[in-house]
Amino acid sequence: MEIFGDIKNYDWGKLGGESEVVKLVQLNDDSFVVDNKKPYSELWMGDHVSGPSKVKATGESLGEFIQKDLKGNIGGQAKLPFLFKVLSIRKALSIQVHPNKSEAERLHSLYPDIYKDANHKPEIAIALTPFLALCDFRPHGEIYQLLKSHNELVELLGSGNIDLINSNGADGLKMCYSKLMKCDDTSIRKCIDSLTDKFKNDNSKLAEVFNQIQKDFPYDVGSLSLFFLNLIEMKPGQSIYLAAKIPHAYLFGDCIECMSCSDNVVRAGLTPKFKDVENLLSMLIYDGRNANEILFKPEMIDEKHQFTSLFRPPIDDFAVAKVEIPQSVKDYEIVNSKFGSIILVISGSAIMSASGMETLNIKRGSIIFVPSSVGPSLKLSNIENNLICYQAMYNDF
Ligand SMILES: [Zn+2]
Repeated sequence: MEIFGDIKNYDWGKLGGESEVVKLVQLNDDSFVVDNKKPYSELWMGDHVSGPSKVKATGESLGEFIQKDLKGNIGGQAKLPFLFKVLSIRKALSIQVHPNKSEAERLHSLYPDIYKDANHKPEIAIALTPFLALCDFRPHGEIYQLLKSHNELVELLGSGNIDLINSNGADGLKMCYSKLMKCDDTSIRKCIDSLTDKFKNDNSKLAEVFNQIQKDFPYDVGSLSLFFLNLIEMKPGQSIYLAAKIPHAYLFGDCIECMSCSDNVVRAGLTPKFKDVENLLSMLIYDGRNANEILFKPEMIDEKHQFTSLFRPPIDDFAVAKVEIPQSVKDYEIVNSKFGSIILVISGSAIMSASGMETLNIKRGSIIFVPSSVGPSLKLSNIENNLICYQAMYNDF
């Protein structure tokens, strides 16, 4: 069944026709009118109460539609366990971390106004265009070198505190990062001013990103997190998985995102929103990881599904399949979860059919909710123009 996604216009989104959200929505919805001054940041595909998708034929909310037949639509679950999105980013999103389940329960019971649900929120991002993100702490030795090579950072954090990263590993890094997050505004400004001066004629990627972040978020302590966190440049199709307790920020580009249904975010910078520094510092994992260990690799389902790569995080709530069909192949079978799935077509076209479902002409921009009653497989025929689609579903492989 075809659906419309729900558009979000958060300030950080790419503007008008620049946004991948707009490019996809224009092809799916004839009545959509774009405003080129407006940011189009996210497209939500799912039954989340804050932005449910709509049934294309009737306008009914997907959430209400699903609730009418939980067994036939999502295999008897209470609601979809995931939210599937397209993000189009012009300006960095806040540096953040998500709690695991037990921490989410604790935070929600203590501060229900800030942490509105008791669920964890692992997420996966798959680049649609060249994509830039911060993800996890750099290896300890790398952070040590970076901090020591900038006098203003040594002055801000204290040489002895930086030495702790070398001598005390994760505990040392925790102390040093805590020092940064608790620095007073005057010292932060002084350090950032000095770095800004220095980076004027520096064409390293670090300097380029620092300058951009400074422009968008002047004097935000988050820009100094650049020296602590891995800067990851992703090519289309590459992915990162954000498990609980891993600090991260999306900086620029367009991506597919899938996450567990939750809004639990603890913020560390690049945001006007509330920063919960104490909970943030106690929650983070300070082990550090090499940038080249961070990309999250997909796996094959089986020989029969050779054009399907499955991004399968170590949690039950969701997996994302990427289906990419070579030009020469005209027929192919894709999987469906026993709890249903949602498919977004990124390029190409095909005819989609399955028992108990109307036959659909799908093309770039199409979004399809596939009920569980359809069974474990769907047929694609008349495939044209290098079909690429992404499919979010419960991780029951
Ligand atoms: Zn996140």
